[in-house]
Amino acid sequence: MNFDWHRIFFSDQDYSFFWEILFRTPIMFLAVVIVLRFTGKRGVQQLSIFEMVMIITLGSAAGDSMFYDDVGMLHALAVFALVLGVYRILIWLITKFEWFEIIMEGKPIYIIREGIMCLEELHSKELGSDEFLGALRGQHIDQLGQVKYAVLEDTGNLSVFFFTDEEVRPGLPILPDEYERKSNKIGKAGLYACSKCARTYQLEPANDVPCDTCNNKEWVEAVCRKRVA
Ligand SMILES: [Zn+2]
Repeated sequence: MNFDWHRIFFSDQDYSFFWEILFRTPIMFLAVVIVLRFTGKRGVQQLSIFEMVMIITLGSAAGDSMFYDDVGMLHALAVFALVLGVYRILIWLITKFEWFEIIMEGKPIYIIREGIMCLEELHSKELGSDEFLGALRGQHIDQLGQVKYAVLEDTGNLSVFFFTDEEVRPGLPILPDEYERKSNKIGKAGLYACSKCARTYQLEPANDVPCDTCNNKEWVEAVCRKRVA
């Protein structure tokens, strides 16, 4: 096999294209910074989906014009101006009409109310509950009876409100080794938490007991630890 090393490293360009890249890159870089400043965003911590799309679009236009000789810089700048224009219009519509905001950014949904998973609200979201359990563990929660409310914000962030130590109730343990012990066999009588909706029931030894709320048949022994952050 014979590699065409010049084409692999330099495409069809000669060495002078390096000078062009040297000229193109700082200008496009500055242009992206300026456009992002004009969006009014102060950071990228909480990007909604359409803001992320805007940034991907800008990045693509900027990147291409940095090193493709057949992409003119003015074309890329025209894309910038248009993206910024569309962004400003969308922001205006979002502040003006609530229904439009819900379409573009979604709305906050409850994941947990009083230690119980809100399955109806979760179903519409195609997000694995594993993901939520991970996010809750990230807040130093090891059983759901510590959680008064958990709200999934439209930015994807999880806001958690806790019970006080006195209010903490027995709940579904979510540490991986405890949660993985979920089973459809109830070995001894006790308080069990449904592995799906986290509601707790006093159960007697039996197999395949369905949860009254969600019909799930796997249970984990409830624990009543307080939260230690
Ligand atoms: Zn259940």
